[in-house]
Amino acid sequence: MPATSSTERAPTGVAQSLIRRYEELERKLQKNRPGEEPRLMRRAFAFAADCHSAQKRKTGEPYLSHLLEVAHLLADMGLDEVTLSSALLHDTIEDTPATLQEINREFGVTVGRCVDGVTKIGRLRYHSSEARKAETFRKMLLAMVQDIRVILIKLADRTHNMRTLHGLDEDRQKRIALETREIFAPVALRLGMGKVRSELEDLAFSYLEPRAFETITQQIESRREASEEFLSAIQRELQEKLSQTGIPSRIEGRIKRPYSIYQKLQRQNVTFDMVYDLMALRVVTDTKTNCYAAMGVIHGQWHPVQGRIKDFVAMPRPNLYQSLHTSVVTREGQRFEVQIRTEEMHRMAEEGICAHWKYKARSQGADVNENQMAWLRRLVEWQREMRDSTDFLSTLKIELYPEEVYVFTPRGEVISLPRDATPVDFAYAIHTEVGHTCTGAKVDGQIAPLKRALQNGEIVEVITQAGSNPSQDWLGFVKTSRARNKIKQWLNSERRRQAVGIGRRLLEKEARAAKVPLKKIPAKRLEEVCREYGCSTPEDLYARLGYGRFSVRQVVRKLLPAGAVDDPAQLRSKPPVLDPADDKRLGEGEGTLEVRGMDDILIYRARCCNPIPGEDIIGYVTRGKGVGVHSSACRNVQNLMFEAERRIDVRWAPKAGSKYQARLTAQVEDRQGLLKDLTSILSNEGLNIVKAEASASDGGKAAIDFVVEVVDKAQLERVAGALSGTDGVLAVTRGSRI
Ligand code: MN
Repeated sequence: MPATSSTERAPTGVAQSLIRRYEELERKLQKNRPGEEPRLMRRAFAFAADCHSAQKRKTGEPYLSHLLEVAHLLADMGLDEVTLSSALLHDTIEDTPATLQEINREFGVTVGRCVDGVTKIGRLRYHSSEARKAETFRKMLLAMVQDIRVILIKLADRTHNMRTLHGLDEDRQKRIALETREIFAPVALRLGMGKVRSELEDLAFSYLEPRAFETITQQIESRREASEEFLSAIQRELQEKLSQTGIPSRIEGRIKRPYSIYQKLQRQNVTFDMVYDLMALRVVTDTKTNCYAAMGVIHGQWHPVQGRIKDFVAMPRPNLYQSLHTSVVTREGQRFEVQIRTEEMHRMAEEGICAHWKYKARSQGADVNENQMAWLRRLVEWQREMRDSTDFLSTLKIELYPEEVYVFTPRGEVISLPRDATPVDFAYAIHTEVGHTCTGAKVDGQIAPLKRALQNGEIVEVITQAGSNPSQDWLGFVKTSRARNKIKQWLNSERRRQAVGIGRRLLEKEARAAKVPLKKIPAKRLEEVCREYGCSTPEDLYARLGYGRFSVRQVVRKLLPAGAVDDPAQLRSKPPVLDPADDKRLGEGEGTLEVRGMDDILIYRARCCNPIPGEDIIGYVTRGKGVGVHSSACRNVQNLMFEAERRIDVRWAPKAGSKYQARLTAQVEDRQGLLKDLTSILSNEGLNIVKAEASASDGGKAAIDFVVEVVDKAQLERVAGALSGTDGVLAVTRGSRI
């Protein structure tokens, strides 16, 4: 179909020059992809013209011209219709009333995804010039993008914006130029797009260092004539030598670009006159072998400079750039650089990922070069089986940094974390205290669980609460070693704090039983005993007593003045329980541990009896494990009270929201529907049933075992009562083990 047909649908009011420019775009696309009717792109052009009709750029041109130029840049890279259409639409969501839904509906989700991606990247703002932050930002940018075409459109957009940056005020010029130098030029480099990268760098340089740029360009200009003469002379000379040797080649001579000279001046701390190799030759030949052969010819003709030979053919750069580099000196002492590469290496060096795509598009089914595949494997991940080459870009998913994820603070700062990191990792990355007191998180404004894996580009807000503490459970899902270490540190110091408290209480109690309050024991004596036990401080001693490492009774006997206890048996016979008078004298609750929820570290419910709030309980210090809390009725504990000094008074302290597992066993007559009746009683009470098991026994009898979560004894008794009252239930008993 003739390209002029587009004018039929072009909106009225669009300047003829723009319509002609659009027609050129169609011709480029049809040249790259013969036989395809650019219907999608025609509609995209009409839509964009309509959306942006009233807008002008700061340079005074119609906005549409920017969109057309961006699309042209991409057409020159050989990209497909989806990319060009998305390029024409890339500013519609951000700058016009058009919505993503509209784009999706009109142009399909692939175009929608590209336009949306470019819009999102466009909202990121980079200000810093710290190298570390720039690297994080670049990684995040690449990781955020699902479709590589988004990056290509963004690079084209940025290239055109840089070319027309003179229209903006100085502040914005500087900001955009900085972002270009720090973010987009390196991204282009990483994707192997040498040509785009060079242009972006030189443009950014001219705005960021206008005076240096000016000086360098002037100096280049003043030498241009001489340089060009020199270049064409050696070019001829080399061409002749190579033909004689039978090496097919194409030679390009060039003067280095301003930014690359500037970097050289900075790096080597020299003046312009001292930079010898301002000029460079590029030899493009057919095979790898001929690259090395050409290098031999060059070194035979001119003397190589020591230490300047680099073999990126055998050892490609990380972006898979390949070439041989060498610097040589003429007999007159003129120095220049030579790059030697094959056509294919050249294409890759200039166009990178686009070169691959073009190659792929043009030679359907052809063998894909091993190196190119390796290069791609490094850069991308196949999203699904590739069907045909036109699908190629849409099947690419950038996975440049698959091990990392990049998220934002609410203030827009980027935090990089390992893959699958959680809001807890994020909180500790912000600050230790934020980590310790975090109780929840909002991800993109939505409440999210603390263990949810964060995704690239999400905005994370940590909810903290003063007085809240880390939980042992967090160790099960955090991904950063920083979070893990901080949590462990906190748990260890908390464990020690509890152990110190427990140890001191045990010691005080035992001392009182011997009628010598701990306070009356001289500090010096305490220190001596500490040394004897290898403890550096009394706290240390308390902690070890709390962990049950030493016998409390022995320590007390050592502390007491000789003769204070006449009869050791007297100690043993004393019940180590406080009398109310002691309690008053020593302050409320001293000597008694409070058992709160399940989250005390050193205080745990004994597995043999699993007491629940409301039941009488007793604490017993278990060696190295802390205080086991038993039911007073527990048979184990009766037998355990054996070393009475290890007993410690405990009582329940209310803690909202804590639930405790308990077992109930119902002896029943085996009737149909009974299990269902019983479970509905439990669920009506609002209990969570952890386990329900029925086992038949002789004579039509059966036992049904439930493990339920209850708040306290009263609730458990209420439920047990309701169960016993059910028709067919013979008896309900509380099981000690769960
Ligand atoms: Mn734009």
